[in-house]
Amino acid sequence: MFAFHLEIPQGVSQLEATYDYIEPEGESATDKLTVLEWNDVLLYPAGTPAEQLTYEATLLLPEGWKFGTSLPIESAAANKIVFKPISLDMLVDSPVIAGEFYRVIDITPAGEPIHHELDLVADSEAALAISPETQKGMTSLVAESGKLFGARHYRDYHFLLTLSDHVAHFGLEHHESNDSRLPERVLLGPGAGYMVGGLLAHEFVHSWNGKFRRPADLTVPYYEQPMETDLLWGYEGLTDYLGPLLAARSELWTEEQYHDYMASIAAAFGPGRPGRTWRPLLDTAVGETNEGLARGQGGWSNWRRGTDYYDEGDLMWLEVATIIHHETNGKKSIDDFTQAFHGGPNNGPEVKTYTFDQLVSALNAIAPYDWATFLHTHLDSTAPEAPVGGIENGGWKIIFNDKPLKLEGRRANFGQIYTIGLLLKDDGTVTDAIVGGPAFQAGIAPAMKVMAVNDHVFTPDVLLDAIKATKDTSQPISLLILSDDYFRTFHVDYHGGERIPHLERVEQKPDYLDELIKPHAAAK
Ligand SMILES: [Zn+2]
Repeated sequence: MFAFHLEIPQGVSQLEATYDYIEPEGESATDKLTVLEWNDVLLYPAGTPAEQLTYEATLLLPEGWKFGTSLPIESAAANKIVFKPISLDMLVDSPVIAGEFYRVIDITPAGEPIHHELDLVADSEAALAISPETQKGMTSLVAESGKLFGARHYRDYHFLLTLSDHVAHFGLEHHESNDSRLPERVLLGPGAGYMVGGLLAHEFVHSWNGKFRRPADLTVPYYEQPMETDLLWGYEGLTDYLGPLLAARSELWTEEQYHDYMASIAAAFGPGRPGRTWRPLLDTAVGETNEGLARGQGGWSNWRRGTDYYDEGDLMWLEVATIIHHETNGKKSIDDFTQAFHGGPNNGPEVKTYTFDQLVSALNAIAPYDWATFLHTHLDSTAPEAPVGGIENGGWKIIFNDKPLKLEGRRANFGQIYTIGLLLKDDGTVTDAIVGGPAFQAGIAPAMKVMAVNDHVFTPDVLLDAIKATKDTSQPISLLILSDDYFRTFHVDYHGGERIPHLERVEQKPDYLDELIKPHAAAK
C-alpha cells in the first residue's frame, strides 16, 4: 500500500529496514490468538515479479502459543519458527494462525494420498470442541472435492479456522490453505455444519477455481498492478455455486438447507433486487473495484446492487449444470466440466489462466451449446425477475409461505423484504427500503428508525405480528418513524401476511436439483 523511494549510495549492496506494524482493533488479533497475513508485515523491491523474489521468514510467538500454516517449516523450537525459503507470492499466499488455544484435526479421508488438516484457534479452550458430525462432514468435504475435481493442485491443505468474537468475520482463499474466521462458539451450536460448510467449502473450492484456474485479467505479476474484475462471475460466481454443492454432498448441509439457501437467493434477486432493471450482473463485477458501490454502503443496496456476482452466480451456474445434463441426455454433468477445466497433474500450487472465450470452449467440449449467448444473456440482462431457469430445470419452483428458513446465521438483519419491503436492524433502524415496495411507496427510506407499529413500541416481533395480521384487515400498518430529529407517521398499504421464500417440487419434472447434491464419494 506504500512506496518508499530511496537514494542508495554507491557501493551499497544490502539494505536493512526495521519497522513496526500496528494491528487495527477488531481485525486479526485478540489477547489469545492472531492471524498473520505476511503482506501486512513485509517490504519488497518494486518491479520484480512476486514469484521471482525469495523470502526467508522467521516468526516469534508469545510463550506457549501453538500455530498452523501451510508454509514449509525449517525449524520450530520453543516459540521461534524459521520457515523454509519461499517465493514472495507463496509467502503472501500462506498465512499463519497462532494462539494459546489451538487444535489440529487430521481430516484426510481413507485412501486419499494428500494430507488435509483442520487447524483451529479460538479465544477459549471450550470453543475448540468440534462435534463428531461436523468433523466427519469436513472429512467428507475433502473426499467430495476429490470426486468433483478429480485432481488437486497443492502439496497438502490446511483449513485455518479462527474462532473469535473480536476479529473480522470473513474467509480468504489461498492455494494450500484458507483463512476463515467465525464467531467463537460456532462449533458448539446446532448451526455448526451449516456455518462451517457454507464458509469453508467456498474457500476450499477456490484452491481449484480462482487460485489454480484464474481469469487472465485477474492475474498480475506485481501487487501494485491493478486487476480487471469483469470475470468475477467465474472466479466468485462458480465458487459460490460449487461450495454449497460440496457442503450438501458432504452432508455438512441438509438437503432442506440447500433448498432454503437457493430459495433465499432466488427471492433476493426476484422481488428483492429492483436494481436489476438498470444495472446488469456484469457491471457488478466490473464495478467491484469501486468499494463503496460494490458493497452498497449507505442504504439503497437493492437499487445500487452490490457484490451480486457471488449469489447470482449460484443461479447461473446451476442453470449451466442443468443444461449440460439436458444437452447430453444425462451422459455428462457439471462434474465432467470441473474435472476437465480444473483437472490436470498436481504440480503443487500453480496458476492456469483463462479468458471468456476459453471458458466457452471448455463448456462446449463437454456439451455443445451456444454458451456465449447463454452467458451474455445472463450477464447483460436487465429483467426484473430472478434467473431461476436452473431451479425450474431441476424440478423445483419458488414459493412464499410462513415457514421459517433453516439457515442459521444467514439473516443477521431482520428482514421484511418480501412483505412491506424493509430491511431493519433489531433496534428498528431501516438499512434498506425496496424500491417500489409498500414501505417505499409510503415514503420510508434507509436511515429512518421505526419507533412504533400501530401505536405499540417497536420490536421485531411486534412488527411481525402486525404483518401477519394484515391478511385479515383492509387497514394499512401505521409506522411511527424517527427521521433525523422529527417523528412522522407513515401508513404502509400491505395485506399479504408473512412471506418467506422456499423451494417446492414440481412433480411432473425429474428432481435433478437433488441429484446434483447427493453424496458422490464412495468412501465415507
Ligand atoms: Zn470467494
